[in-house]
Amino acid sequence: MANNSTRFVRWSAEKYNAVGHCIYCGSTENLSDEHIVPLGLQPKGGDWFLPQASCGECADVTKRFEGLCLQGTLGPLRAKLNLRSRRKLKTTVELTTNHRDDGCVETRVVPLDEFPMVCLGFDLEPAGLLRHIQPAKEFVGRNVVRYQKGELEKHLQEGVALKLGRVGPLDYARMLAKIAHSYAIARFGEASFVPFLPEIILGKSDYAPHFVGGDRSGVPLIDEPNVLHRVYGQACDLNGQPYLLVAVRLFAFMGMPRYLVVVGKIADGSLERLRRIPL
Ligand SMILES: [Zn+2]
Repeated sequence: MANNSTRFVRWSAEKYNAVGHCIYCGSTENLSDEHIVPLGLQPKGGDWFLPQASCGECADVTKRFEGLCLQGTLGPLRAKLNLRSRRKLKTTVELTTNHRDDGCVETRVVPLDEFPMVCLGFDLEPAGLLRHIQPAKEFVGRNVVRYQKGELEKHLQEGVALKLGRVGPLDYARMLAKIAHSYAIARFGEASFVPFLPEIILGKSDYAPHFVGGDRSGVPLIDEPNVLHRVYGQACDLNGQPYLLVAVRLFAFMGMPRYLVVVGKIADGSLERLRRIPL
């Protein structure tokens, strides 16, 4: 099981040229570096970002949904793995239990060790666009909780439910969209595709399920020991139109699901070039 001394392999720390404008709105004002995987999900010593790629206004928007995912959904896990953080990582965590017999809900602050090492995510239907359906606003799927055998059981008592975190599929999907969009620009260049995701990321479109979804390829996923996250691109052809997809698997070592994000239409003449880029 991973712990503070876990060494994550295959961590990409590739360096990219400065973009010089916001990859979401195009502004050239008040630019800062954009982390491809949020800083709070990167291991200590890791650094993976696109320089000068987000304006202040868009950074305020992305910070909000990333904060909800990183603290509400993944906070205790990040602290247990000792991932990067702008603030000091917590050494204690709130543990909320619900006693089924009398309905008593109790919240206690406990040392981090007393909280199970679990990872939360979603098993989502694939993106609507890949299924040729009309754009929808609601995600279809179920919550996923992954943990190593024994890790959750030792924290459970008979008749007592344990609150593991708050999970919001839309916030999570916007975080995945941001990872996929910034990765695609870093890796393949802005000119190689017509982007679909900036409006989703900025909260100006409600149709996230059309572009962000799970991977129901039927290929069973295995835990990837020591691989923290895996992100890679792939091209896909739908009715003669090539699309650029980015696969995102956060916490791969815990056997979490893989998401497939449709980042855009591949620009005319770019497909051959993209095929030559090793994924
Ligand atoms: Zn912007």
